[in-house]
Order: sequence, then C-alpha cells, then structure tokens
Amino acid sequence: MREHLKHYIGGRWVESEGGERHEVINPATEEPVTAITLGTAADVDKAVAAAREAYESFSQTSVQDRLALLQRIADEYKARMGDMAKAISEEMGAPISFASAAQAPAGLGHFLATAKALKDFAFEEQIGKATVLHEPIGVVGLITPWNWPVNQINAKVAPCIAAGNTMVLKPSEECPSNAVILAEIMEAAGVPAGVFNLVQGDGPTVGAAIAGHENIDMVSFTGSTRAGIAVAQAAAPTVKRVHQELGGKAPNLVLEGAKLDEVLPPTLQGVLANSGQSCIAPTRLLVHESQKEEAEQFAKAMFAQTKVGSPDEQGMHIGPVVNKTQYDKIQELIESGIEEGATLLEGGPGLPEGVNRGYYVRPTIFADVTPDMRLFREETFGPVATITSYASSEEAVRLANDTAYGLSATISGDPEAARPVAAKLRAGLVTVNSWGPDSGAPFGGYKQSGNGREFGAYGLRDFMEVKTLVGA
Ligand code: NAD
Repeated sequence: MREHLKHYIGGRWVESEGGERHEVINPATEEPVTAITLGTAADVDKAVAAAREAYESFSQTSVQDRLALLQRIADEYKARMGDMAKAISEEMGAPISFASAAQAPAGLGHFLATAKALKDFAFEEQIGKATVLHEPIGVVGLITPWNWPVNQINAKVAPCIAAGNTMVLKPSEECPSNAVILAEIMEAAGVPAGVFNLVQGDGPTVGAAIAGHENIDMVSFTGSTRAGIAVAQAAAPTVKRVHQELGGKAPNLVLEGAKLDEVLPPTLQGVLANSGQSCIAPTRLLVHESQKEEAEQFAKAMFAQTKVGSPDEQGMHIGPVVNKTQYDKIQELIESGIEEGATLLEGGPGLPEGVNRGYYVRPTIFADVTPDMRLFREETFGPVATITSYASSEEAVRLANDTAYGLSATISGDPEAARPVAAKLRAGLVTVNSWGPDSGAPFGGYKQSGNGREFGAYGLRDFMEVKTLVGA
C-alpha cells in the first residue's frame, strides 16, 4: 500500500496538524491501496498563509516567465504520465488502457491549451477613456472530484498559474495520489514555493475550511450540485468569488431519420467510457417513435457486447465504479427503474456474470423511461442509459431540456439539421455525433450545473479580476 501522509505546503512536505489516517480502497479488489492523512482547518490556515506570501511575488511575474513555467510543468508531466495513469487506475478503477490514453493525457492538455490561451490573452483593453486591466485574483481554493481527477485539477491549476494566482488544492479523498504526483511535478518544474499547495482531506473539514476562509479570494469547485451548494453557502459571508462546475444529466437527442448504426456508437460510448462516471455522459437517449424499436435493438446489442473487466488488464473493457457508496447508489437507481415500470433491455441489478468481488456494474439500458422516473431525473454516474421516445421535434427539445441540469447535451444525426436544434438546448456544451469537450474552448454549465467556465481563454478569464483605470 502506498502512503502519502503529508501535505505539500510552502514548497515542503509537512506533517498534518492533527489529521487522521484514511485508507483508499481499490474498487477492483476491495483492498486498501493508498493511505493519506485527512487534513484539518489548521492545515488549511498554514497553506493559505504560504499561498498569500507567495502571491506577493508570483502575481508580479511576467507573462513570459509564466509561459516558460507552464512549459516546464508540461515537460515534467509528460515524464510522469505512466505514474499518473497507474495511480488513477488503482484508486478509481479506470482500466489502465483508458487511464493511459484518456485520463492522464487530459491533465496534460490543460497546461498546453492554457499556455496557448495565455500567449494571446489581452491583459489590457481600451473602453472609451478607460483602460481595463485583467489582473490575478489572489489566493484560490480548488476543490475537485475523483471521476476525471487530474483533468479536473489541472483545469483549475493551469489557469491559476497562467493568471499569476497562488492556490490551495483539496483533491477528492477517494483518489488522492494523482495530486501528490502533480505536487512532485510542480516541484521538479521549479514552481516557486507557496504557489501550489496541497492539503489532502474530506469535504466537510478541509473543503469547508477552504470555502469559508477569509484569506481566500476565490473558490473553484467541481463536484456534485449538493456539495457545490454547501460550498457556496460556506463562502457567502466572505463574498469570495464562487466558481462552480457541477453535476449533469445530458440528453442524447437523436434526430428523426438519423442513421443509427453511424450515430449511436460514438455517442452511446459516452455512457460506457469511464463506467459512465462522466459529468457529460449523454445518458438520456431521446428517439423518434418511428425509430424506437430499431434504437432499442441497437443499444441493447451495444451494451450486451460491452465487456467488464479488471482495471490492470489492457483492453477496451470497462472497469468497476469508484466505491461501494457509488455502487449502491447505482443499484438503487437500477431497481427504481424496474419498480417504476421502465422496460429493462439489457443488464440489471447485481454483479456481472462471473464476478464475485469489486464494485462492477452491469452495462444497463432501459426503454420506455418517462420524465417522472428517477432514472430520467437523477444523475446515475454509472454505465446506465435510458431510452425515451418523442413524437415531434418540439417534444424532443422539451424532453432534452426537462432537467435541473445544463452541463451538456448531445445531438445525434445530420450536423446541419443539428445546428438550429443546438440553439434551443439549455446546456453549456452541445456535441454533435460525439460527446467530448475541446480543451481550448469554454466548458461549464447552465442552470444547476454551475456558473463558471473552464478551459482555454474563457477559463483564464474566470480566474482573474478586472480593474478599470480612468485618467492614467
Ligand atoms: P462530491 O460533490 O461528492 O465531491 C467533490 C469534492 O467536493 C470532493 O473533493 C469532496 O471532498 C468535496 N466536498 C464534499 N462535500 C463538501 C462540502 N460540504 N464542502 C466542501 N467540499 C466538499 O462529488 P464526487 O462524487 O467527487 O464527483 C462526482 C460529481 O462531480 C458528479 O456530480 C459530477 O457530475 C460532478 N462533476 C462535474 C464536472 C463539471 O465539470 N461540471 C466534472 C466532473 C465531475
């Protein structure tokens, strides 16, 4: 078992101020894989003090210096790519092939895309007689989830570095080692002491201490809408900027007459990849009633053919879900579909055939799912999709938007016909015949999926303050 019992504060690995040991369970073996120390509010105080001190000089560095620093971080990151993939795979269960090809490289992508955005960023603009200046915001608290762990961390760390901010990161206690490797990368790249600080810990203690801290200027949170609301409430008395990237329940609106054999494989893949643990997974398939049966047969076959297997084996199979809590929640939602009268096409409750340990979920698809059902409304975060049919294009758009979330939406079908439909969807990301974002273009939610934007130039702007200078 690995042990990462220290926090990284002020450029040094330091003991916690009284935190307790926590063991992360490998979801494939149900055995402990990593031990960390859950930090305390006193650890956060120390990290904030280090970040505040470092801010004095780091906020004054030149764009050229920060570009060079981002490049050195990217180089060091490339050298640790294999370690990153292995740590992620062992702690959250992504198969090693997927962790190596998607999870770990996604973290690198943010340093590269942000460096590109920084090169072209206009730090000054003229509006009438005024000069508008974009300045670093200060000390930023970063709170992140386990599902695309280093991707979500670096979507925040990269713009903080680019802007000249300093930061205190609290990664998910379910998947902490990638953040330790990142701290080592920062050290190796020569990031000045105190610019990047890491405090391991849980949400109610370390997360809440960051959200409520009076010396933190901004908190950037990625995770569930539930915890995002708690962060915003804790942050309110200090009036810091609260930047939220929250949950999703994306539709996959299949346009009438779409060639299902062409459009369903790349879009349904978004529900299966990462065992469905993606905030943008397009889980709600909406199909025209004339294609209902064909879509059901096609999706059923695709889910039936999806292999479930060990994360340490190479291959295109899917792994377990992150932990027992998540497994139980998915099982409960699958049961709810059966109880509420949806038609189970493939998969269902319990472990896949031949599996007797690990948090593996059967790839599951339901038809005849209606908007009142829990499966239609609640974020499942597992390899579970639903099919709902529609009679008109107006009804399709209504169903797509019938959710409290608005992170992303997928349209399957003719790209030209998709364009006017995209304009009607209340979601921050609309993908056509695909499901992934672009690391240089803005990423963030409408409605209860959040209020921030990350990635590229828009991400950089969100991590900065704006000053208007008149008369100078
Ligand atoms: P989570 O909300 O349980 O935890 C996320 C982070 O918040 C963790 O670090 C956790 O320790 C911390 N936290 C929990 N309670 C807190 C509190 N009261 N105060 C402060 N911090 C607290 O989410 P998760 O299970 O780790 O991740 C899955 C969720 O993240 C899903 O809802 C998913 O849609 C969402 N997500 C969103 C995006 C996005 O960009 N919008 C990306 C990835 C994941």
